[in-house]
Amino acid sequence: MTDAAFEIAFKNVFGRAPEGAWSAPGRVNLIGEHTDYNDGHVMPFALPHATRAAVARRDDGVLRLHSANMEGEEGGVVELRIADLAPGTTGGWARYPAAVLWTLREAGYPIGGADIHYDSTVPVGGGLSSSAALQVVTALALTELHGVQGVSRQELALLCQSSENTYVGAPVGVMDQTASACCTEGHALHLDVRGLAQRQVPFDLAAEGLRLLVCDTRVKHAHADGAYGELRAGCEAAAAALGLTALRDVDFDGLDAALAALPDDRLRRLTRHVVTENHRVEEVLELLDAGRTREIGPVLTAGHASLRDDFQVSCPELDLVADTALAAGALGARMTGGGFGGSVIVLVEEADETAVAAAVAEALPQVRQFATVPGPGAHRLW
Ligand code: ADP
Ligand code: MG
Repeated sequence: MTDAAFEIAFKNVFGRAPEGAWSAPGRVNLIGEHTDYNDGHVMPFALPHATRAAVARRDDGVLRLHSANMEGEEGGVVELRIADLAPGTTGGWARYPAAVLWTLREAGYPIGGADIHYDSTVPVGGGLSSSAALQVVTALALTELHGVQGVSRQELALLCQSSENTYVGAPVGVMDQTASACCTEGHALHLDVRGLAQRQVPFDLAAEGLRLLVCDTRVKHAHADGAYGELRAGCEAAAAALGLTALRDVDFDGLDAALAALPDDRLRRLTRHVVTENHRVEEVLELLDAGRTREIGPVLTAGHASLRDDFQVSCPELDLVADTALAAGALGARMTGGGFGGSVIVLVEEADETAVAAAVAEALPQVRQFATVPGPGAHRLW
């Protein structure tokens, strides 16, 4: 939808003109899965797919929300009084933007009421972080529109994470929101979650004759949300058993000794994944810096095996897509995002793209696939 059509859509919902519009992307994580809440390393990049928000302020303490992506029971305008916002009280999709507004105000920022209309090209629930795109576009729009100065993009991402932890009640790490807020076109973002050091890493697939396919399996297994909290608690228990702040503190070279010191097989599996995955981020970083992009393929595939066998967050559909792509000639394939459904990323030679995509579509007919390149992070549209 063009900017003009988006503006008209806002007018049709709220009966007046918006004051501005913002955009925030979804993401894929190239490597570094389930490492963010272990103080570790991640390397996501922004998708060209994004969530847009057209916004106008209100001075009556009311927040009105509408999403073009929500229909039926979730459709229509959701109206909330800012004074009534409190953790755990808002249901449905509106809890994400309500959480952001509540968190910004709790942090002391003078954010008032607003009318917000959203639309999105990020597949919702596809493991591509439509939720982070929704949070970040809301946070950026509200802070810029209310004239809040001096909040860095990283701080904005931390506020969005905090809103999901506290208000929505999901114990997520900070990767997704940081990716949406901080990524730049043509780059993957290396984020060291301990200390939050960032580096934009050039990731130009086309120049090297490569393609990256995103294959959305369109499944999301029901236990995904509960399992996330259990996995996080397991990682924290393993770190505590080792007398460490976080699993980040286990050296790759000291992995065997750490495993021998853990009390049970589950904690050993979780630890092995986190430690080897942090190491894989470093490997991918070195290969990209050296211009050896093709060689990241096997590292991605090893990451999938670790998520499947050690962390145990894959599912038959993700495994089928990854295995099929590799058998059809892909250089590497791994699930991306939290797991139990969602998407697989596949690195292929340009010449093999069609054959690999066809093989995946035949193996899992419901799959939705697209080739992608790193897009821009969150920004104001007009
Ligand atoms: P993912 O982030 O992988 O897409 P999640 O389950 O974390 O999946 O987040 C999806 C939820 O986020 C949706 O169920 C909905 O509540 C909310 N959401 C995301 N995008 C939108 C949108 N464009 N409009 C309304 N709600 C959205
Ligand atoms: Mg999400």
